[in-house]
Amino acid sequence: MCPNNATTDDEYDLFIDGETAPAASGERLVVEDSATEEPVATVSAGSDPDIDRAVDAARDAQRDWHETSPVERGRILGRAGERIEANKDALAQLLTRENGKPISQSRTELEVAARYFEYYAGATDKFQGETIPLGAEHVDYTVHEPLGVTGHIVPWNFPTSLFARTVAPALAVGNAAVVKPAEQTPLTAVVLGELLDEAGVPDGAINVVPGDGTTAGAALTEHDDVDGIAFTGSVPTGAEVAATAARQLKPVHIEAGGKNPNVVFPDADLEQALEQTVISIFSRNAGQVCSAGDRLIVHQDIHDEFVDRLVERVRTLTVGPGLDDPDVGALVSETQYKTVKDYIEIGTSEVGEPIVGGVPDDTETGYFVEPTIFDGASNDHRISQEEIFGPVLSVIPFSDEAEAIDIANDTEYGLTAGIFTEDLRRAHRFARDVVAGQVYVNEWFAGGVETPFGGTRQSGFGREKGLEGLEQFAETKNVCVNIGHTQE
Ligand code: NAD
Repeated sequence: MCPNNATTDDEYDLFIDGETAPAASGERLVVEDSATEEPVATVSAGSDPDIDRAVDAARDAQRDWHETSPVERGRILGRAGERIEANKDALAQLLTRENGKPISQSRTELEVAARYFEYYAGATDKFQGETIPLGAEHVDYTVHEPLGVTGHIVPWNFPTSLFARTVAPALAVGNAAVVKPAEQTPLTAVVLGELLDEAGVPDGAINVVPGDGTTAGAALTEHDDVDGIAFTGSVPTGAEVAATAARQLKPVHIEAGGKNPNVVFPDADLEQALEQTVISIFSRNAGQVCSAGDRLIVHQDIHDEFVDRLVERVRTLTVGPGLDDPDVGALVSETQYKTVKDYIEIGTSEVGEPIVGGVPDDTETGYFVEPTIFDGASNDHRISQEEIFGPVLSVIPFSDEAEAIDIANDTEYGLTAGIFTEDLRRAHRFARDVVAGQVYVNEWFAGGVETPFGGTRQSGFGREKGLEGLEQFAETKNVCVNIGHTQE
């Protein structure tokens, strides 16, 4: 794997117009292994001229790619999924080293990335328009057209599956893509670009330009010849990207953060609720997940028993280097480690000592944080309102359904929400009343590449995944024809 991209095993380059290339400036980013604090590799750091080159290549390739028959586009995207699957083990190693996540989770992430290509491969010849009945004298139909050149700004928490989540549908519709991966995790992204090219995506239709957000990311967003932007990342950056796009009236969709409520009722299957709670905030990517179950809102009648069992379970979780495949790997970077550590200190001053976990020890190598639970938190506390993006849970008790909904909705976010109950009617009332883009019932992270995903409020706007994910990358053209009267 990655024979072409990496000049050597520890030097990676940009991927533009079917070729690897150094950055015009000659600058490089160092990618760190967060478990060892040692460098993994360096990658060329793109800036304005590299983004210009990538956008030009995409512009040149886009028309031909769009004019490739949908069935052929689908076959190529299908092969892209197969190439990712075939290189899964090597890519997973690289992903774990650049991101810190346990190796089994890296493999799963690659499977999801491959699955996006497989899924959207099947959509190329089914994303069809409609006819609109205007009466006997008109024929009216709609056509989905690609936006043109699309810019994809990707975060570090799922560097491969979030790359695939927007690039696969964009290519399926006939766009040409320029990807700006996160500074922390650019290595798998440049390799993915190369694998797509090998699968038959034409030179220039897929380009990957690592670099700083404020240089390469900003250059991509504000580029006059980029026709649409897909952004996944933090709220402040999302707001900046959206503002830049708005000035150019450029379509954009924003997938930002969350502070998601996980509501547990006494009638739930408590063992299932417990396991899902652990996955929701601790073991999946060490809680560095926008859709994590950050707030456990648990009924007062089961609060003590549930929390005791949760603590017992959490104590069994292993924390360690991702390559050893623990339950919880290292956080992605020193910056993220410090952010999470600060929040644990804030939680300690707001609520008191956590009932498990606590402030991490800076003297140890690697950015490891033990799963940490603050019991007796109020929903007003900062640790219950602000996105921490780490393995830190606030536990908030409630007394009845109305209060649970009030607490769940008392946040500036609206990404995901979950409920654990055996009462079907209550589950549907919750789904109706909670402010969220997706609702999980009796399973956290339920759904798949087929199910639309996105946020409301500060969590962003637009929907990715599923067939709706195609619409973000298309314009609808309406054609209305006056066919007149039948000639006598
Ligand atoms: P971030 O906003 O710092 O960075 C995200 C991306 O934006 C990176 O590629 C970065 O280089 C780029 N960027 C930074 N400044 C830019 C600028 N001025 N112009 C253009 N691009 C710029 O976010 P992060 O810390 O990497 O990611 C974590 C955040 O992402 C969390 O808030 C998390 O909730 C969110 N996230 C959301 C989803 C979702 O689907 N809603 C999924 C994953 C992560």
